[in-house]
Amino acid sequence: MNTKQVKAYGTEAADASLEQRHIKRREVMPTDVEIDILYCGVCHSDLHFARNDWGMTQYPVVPGHEIVGRVSQIGDGVTNYKLGDLVAVGCLVDSCRTCSNCKDDLEQYCPEWVGTYGGYDKHLDTNTHGGYSESIVVDEAFVLRVPENLDQAGIAPVLCAGITTWSPLRHWNVGKDSTIAVVGLGGLGHMAIKLAHALGAHVTLFSRSTNKIEDAKALGADAVIISTDEAQMKKAMGRFDVIIDTVPYAHDLNPYVATLNTSGTLVVVGYLGPLDPMLMTIPMIMGRKSVAGSLIGGIAETQELLDFCGKHNITSDVEVIKIQEINQAYERMLHSDVKYRFVIDMKSLKS
Ligand code: NAP
Ligand code: ZN
Ligand code: ZN
Repeated sequence: MNTKQVKAYGTEAADASLEQRHIKRREVMPTDVEIDILYCGVCHSDLHFARNDWGMTQYPVVPGHEIVGRVSQIGDGVTNYKLGDLVAVGCLVDSCRTCSNCKDDLEQYCPEWVGTYGGYDKHLDTNTHGGYSESIVVDEAFVLRVPENLDQAGIAPVLCAGITTWSPLRHWNVGKDSTIAVVGLGGLGHMAIKLAHALGAHVTLFSRSTNKIEDAKALGADAVIISTDEAQMKKAMGRFDVIIDTVPYAHDLNPYVATLNTSGTLVVVGYLGPLDPMLMTIPMIMGRKSVAGSLIGGIAETQELLDFCGKHNITSDVEVIKIQEINQAYERMLHSDVKYRFVIDMKSLKS
């Protein structure tokens, strides 16, 4: 297989900083699109993966799965894209395409889905490398079209933070009669508020900190509950149809289950791992409540969201950084000190 070297940013070990390196990209094959990357969002999953929080990372790692760029080359069998098109790649670059999940546009639940980074690259027999790089080569079936009317840095986080919250909002039929809540105001949380608000729902934010109240309201939240205030939590009992929980670390779900109404669902999208403290089943049984999970979204659903954002002029609130600032950005993200998504301007890698 013919390859070329491109510049990227990544790490060799859980305790090492991200640094500039070179990676291989394949030359385009018949159905491939090569994308010159303009912007790449910084997801908390990038940090989890780079630092091996989930115990499955293979090094080296080049993170990044909120990729926006322009088509710079196409294979001779590509039918949907042409040179110069504004396109995007999210968390998936391949799947088996034949299983029932793939047939149902749920590629993210395909047992053979290939992550944009940290997956298995069958072409190069190595792990896949993500968007903290100059360019990427992806089969056109996993490339998305970006509306030209939106800010290009601001749209990047839609590829993960957006779709991860949109998919459960759609699955649990959130609309104008819904009363929903979002736990945690970070990258996912702020997109959840914007999208649920645009769908017409009544939206409440649960946050640990009082200093995000004004921002949450400006993003579209109707109310804010400080989750560390017992009196406020008690007052919220039995109120929500759906809660989207974006907190990245182990935390107590029981106080949030109490705020669901009868038949309500708490959807965990943030934390991966065993619950601590344990989940109490009695309130769930007594109120037919559910605790569920949800993973990103499929290709068709991600395109649906990009089109929705184009129509409603929705983008993420971003802090644009240079790639050389990525290690400080990770430290700030650990302290919830970002409003509300870092996005890397990839010109900084090329210069
Ligand atoms: P983020 O920007 O760091 O935001 C997380 C928010 O959670 C923080 O702003 C904070 O909000 C709250 N928080 C942080 N630490 C907390 C703690 N110890 N206890 C309680 N609340 C805490 O992260 P993100 O990029 O939105 O990602 C959130 C999580 O979703 C990550 O674990 C990521 O890996 C995961 N994720 C999952 C999927 C999926 O498909 N399911 C996709 C993408 C990302 P407040 O200050 O308002 O409390
Ligand atoms: Zn992500
Ligand atoms: Zn499949």
